[in-house]
Amino acid sequence: MKSLSFKINRHFYLCFIILFLVALSLLSCACSQSSSDDAVNAQMSSQQNVDNTNDTSDTKQVDAELEVTFFDVGQGDSALVTCDDKYLLIDGGDSKKSSVIYNDLDKRNISFLDYIIITHTDSDHCGGVSGALNRANVGTCYCSEKKASSNAWKYVIANLDAQGKDITIPAVGDSFSLGDATVTFMAPSKIGTSDNNNSLVCRIDYGNNSFLFTGDAESEEEEELISSTFDLDVDVLKVSHHGSDKCTSSTFLSYVKPEYAVISVGKNSYGHPGSSFLERLKKYTSKIFRTDESGDITFKSDGENISVSCSR
Ligand SMILES: [Zn+2]
Repeated sequence: MKSLSFKINRHFYLCFIILFLVALSLLSCACSQSSSDDAVNAQMSSQQNVDNTNDTSDTKQVDAELEVTFFDVGQGDSALVTCDDKYLLIDGGDSKKSSVIYNDLDKRNISFLDYIIITHTDSDHCGGVSGALNRANVGTCYCSEKKASSNAWKYVIANLDAQGKDITIPAVGDSFSLGDATVTFMAPSKIGTSDNNNSLVCRIDYGNNSFLFTGDAESEEEEELISSTFDLDVDVLKVSHHGSDKCTSSTFLSYVKPEYAVISVGKNSYGHPGSSFLERLKKYTSKIFRTDESGDITFKSDGENISVSCSR
């Protein structure tokens, strides 16, 4: 009996050990499969993140609306850019138009301009900025230089002083966010040979839509832009120097390929906009808007589509 009992116990133990080893092996496989699945899942998750990033980058999704209003400031330039309750004023027209800028900011209840860009110190661009600074405080005020002799410029500096602010001169390639929009400085990379060729040129990107502001840049600065690595192809071009014949060459237009063009112009003795310039421009777009004909011109972008409305 003792011998039989020993045999049974021995069989029992052998079976138990075999079952234990089989169970251990199955468990190990399961764990290994699970780890492997986890790794695959992690990889997929990571891939999805990458894909999502790519999707965002490809479609450039944006959350709010970008609005750009070109004010009718007569012979001069001024535009207000708003996005996600952030505000950027680009130029302010002549000093006589200070009230236009002041009243518009007042009507919109804007008491803080996140940014002002004064493209250059000519009075038809900087003068009305004083009106803006009397209505609103400014975060950062950019210009291509800090010194100029005109009274219009002196008032701008005095108004900035009163807010404890100074002019910031950006470097080419500098950029900042305006809500979901991005503003990038593209020129000048060096001090231009004239005030006009010293205009800050900037591009605004919002989703898949884009705007180019050229100040009064002439051929010298246009050539600099053409030979740069910047993408000049935009939807909306604020044409340079009020439509002067000396600016916005066919070559420049062939790079910009604007869908819309805005000419900020008023009564003047310079012949702006020039007839040869208009002929060149019409070869690239039929959607040409002039502040002297249409008043304030407002573009709205959802990042994919652009709509335009005019005050007259
Ligand atoms: Zn000008």
